[in-house]
Amino acid sequence: RAKQDGRNSYAFYTESLTLESREHLKLQSALHVALEEGNFHLVYQPKLNFNSLKTVGFEALLRWEDPVLGVISPGIFIPIAEKIGLINSIGSWVLREACQQGVKWIGQGKTFGRIAVNVAGQQIKRSSFVDEVKQILSETGFPAQSLELEVTESFMMSDPEAAARDLRVLGDLGIELSVDDFGTGYSSLNYLKKLPIHKLKIDQSFVRDIPVDANNTAIAKAVIALGHALNLQVVAEGVETELQADFLRESGCDEVQGYLYSRPQLPEDLQKFLL
Ligand code: C2E
Ligand code: MG
Ligand code: MG
Ligand code: MG
Repeated sequence: RAKQDGRNSYAFYTESLTLESREHLKLQSALHVALEEGNFHLVYQPKLNFNSLKTVGFEALLRWEDPVLGVISPGIFIPIAEKIGLINSIGSWVLREACQQGVKWIGQGKTFGRIAVNVAGQQIKRSSFVDEVKQILSETGFPAQSLELEVTESFMMSDPEAAARDLRVLGDLGIELSVDDFGTGYSSLNYLKKLPIHKLKIDQSFVRDIPVDANNTAIAKAVIALGHALNLQVVAEGVETELQADFLRESGCDEVQGYLYSRPQLPEDLQKFLL
């Protein structure tokens, strides 16, 4: 197509690049404002035990509704926040907010299992992260035993020794540690065995075509087997159909999350998942 259009297409591509970077700049400054003005909020998605379908916890997911730009999805703004270093402040806000919600539920006599908070690689790599978690727990009064942190493979593999050290301190506090999007990064199985983690979350890209796509179905089964061989719990995310659920349950998957059971929702809309 570029060939056919000749010189004009060059101009076209250049312009669209500029537009994209202008868009990014706009988002960058809007992110700063969003944090200052409180345009973020959290929604929570239930995690269920696969056999009993009882609530075992909730994953906190960040939402940004900008008064001018509208709703922007975390898949877009989290990478930008990482790039400009704002993920640390945003991450602290998320953790504090989730802990405060948990304390609220405790005050209402609700049982919710654990609240899982996503932690970006950038954020947890900092040497101050562990202290910050301790600080927020003590400030909010949220019990470490009710917290789960979802970390990524890339964080653990970039400096496995340091990661293991930090994760061990967090684990010793009683925090549960999950590897999110498992199977999409590079995990050395050798390190995986040594890292003090409790759970693997099978990435939704593998769950999506179960049981139609033979490769993804095989991968999902293999992750469950690997997790269990390493004494880890295995969680399936992004489960949308009964067919996927049946297959994963029969394959021995321990926990499940997905639109089939509940979308991420505001705390006040989750009453039926709270005990
Ligand atoms: P994730 O941690 O893997 O979260 C799962 C994503 O899948 C969420 O998208 C969730 O809404 C979506 N999801 C859940 N069930 C289903 C389903 O059945 N079908 C489909 N199609 N999707 C489902 P969301 O909320 O847009 O978040 C996207 C990603 O952004 C998250 O992936 C996580 O990596 C990141 N993120 C979200 N909130 C935070 C946060 O507070 N901090 C950090 N660092 N990252 C976050
Ligand atoms: Mg997650
Ligand atoms: Mg995930
Ligand atoms: Mg994901």
